[in-house]
Amino acid sequence: MLLSSNLPFARVCGFVPKDDNSEYWNRHVPSLRKLQQFDVIMRDWGLWNRIKWDEVKQNIKEGVIEKEKELVGDTTHYHAYSGFETVTYEEGGKEQKKSQSKVTKRCNCEDWEHCPHPWVLADDGAGTIVKSKSKIIWGHKASVLGFPKQGVPIDAAAVADGATFDGKTLFPHVEKVFEHLPEIKPVIDRVLYDSACDDKALKEKFQEELNIELKTSLNPRRKKPVTENLPRGMKKVTPYGSLICAAGHEMDYKGIRYEAEKLIYQAPVNGNNISVCLNCEHKMECCPHADIGRTINLSFDCLPHIDTDDPPMAKRFKAIMTRRPSVERMIKRLKCDLGDDRLKKRGNASFQAYLDKTMIAFHVLLRN
Ligand SMILES: [Zn+2]
Repeated sequence: MLLSSNLPFARVCGFVPKDDNSEYWNRHVPSLRKLQQFDVIMRDWGLWNRIKWDEVKQNIKEGVIEKEKELVGDTTHYHAYSGFETVTYEEGGKEQKKSQSKVTKRCNCEDWEHCPHPWVLADDGAGTIVKSKSKIIWGHKASVLGFPKQGVPIDAAAVADGATFDGKTLFPHVEKVFEHLPEIKPVIDRVLYDSACDDKALKEKFQEELNIELKTSLNPRRKKPVTENLPRGMKKVTPYGSLICAAGHEMDYKGIRYEAEKLIYQAPVNGNNISVCLNCEHKMECCPHADIGRTINLSFDCLPHIDTDDPPMAKRFKAIMTRRPSVERMIKRLKCDLGDDRLKKRGNASFQAYLDKTMIAFHVLLRN
């Protein structure tokens, strides 16, 4: 529509020669069908994908993007342009249910029930994405990786099955990015991700195979706070390692003493820089002699769920993780500003082509 109604747009797209100012400039614009055929060729031969990598490479080479030491990643979903059905299948003698795309045939036979051609999924790659207990989306899933400080996405990859767990998509995606952008591989020493990748085995895999630290938000394996065998005056330790006292104050985490196997916390100060302990009603049974406020040495045994080599309460951990939400802004740019989260085409290849086209637009605009 834009091509046939907007002369400057058609000219910028390269369809109208410079010297043609006639009212018939429209004749230079290809038909919708030709444009669609072009898009299919670009998709099927992986050409959108190659242009995408070229654009990103060019921006790195020309210094439009600076190489960063960290990558940040997350997944996001797009609503599928298809319906699904629930099928029953057998696994290990048990009946299981799963959602899958409706099926169709690629042939033009009249009698699909009896013709020999195979049934195929109408929208391969689509799956059910669970957002919460009450919200399930039928859609395609993309894994996004980028530079956190600049907020620049460097790749968006279609996940072959929308229902794949995030912990499984990250490693292969990072490998693929290094394969296409080997120039950034020596620089990257850390990847930031949310709690979906808080997994010891995965972190070791990153360290051993790529020599990269995988830093994730904490996925608290335990749901309940620790309330027993705590030092006097202390009420609980949360699943995230926060220590709360009987008066309800959260103690400041100060550090760790590995030889003594203790974590050190201190009572916080109020707005006037005076310890909250001084006027506390629990002072007598908690810290009657302390005049600068309570210090607590908490034994590692009280926090069996916390990785003491990398405690999530530490300032350094928190400082690094403040850069993680940057990926949300990248996703917003791709999905809302330059794209649409409702897809208009079916199939994983079309979805990847859509992501590639959005990335191309992002990087062309970044350069200009
Ligand atoms: Zn057929």
